[in-house]
Amino acid sequence: MLAARALVLRDLGARRLDVPAAVDALDAAVSQRRWWVEQWPDGADFVAGQLAQDVQDRLLDAGLGRWPRCRSCDETTTHELRIEPELGAEPQWVCEKSGITVAALGALP
Ligand SMILES: [Zn+2]
Repeated sequence: MLAARALVLRDLGARRLDVPAAVDALDAAVSQRRWWVEQWPDGADFVAGQLAQDVQDRLLDAGLGRWPRCRSCDETTTHELRIEPELGAEPQWVCEKSGITVAALGALP
């Protein structure tokens, strides 16, 4: 769980979103997912990707905007990266417009 938190925190930092409000959102998501993994231990491999998606939702709800914005394709309108697979091991950030795989979770440029 701490490893998953570290990956997401690193990618928040890659977009300079490692601000207190975003870290609070991350920690709230970590507490919730800790409960989820206790109920479903087999989900432990998937928890990092789930956590990243939780934080995306929480940042949007908190008015901090969409994270992470895509900078990797030719599409000029603002759009974000999505975690793929949505529920799986080895989560990757993928551009929602072009389908380009940008980076592994925890390795955003
Ligand atoms: Zn893109």
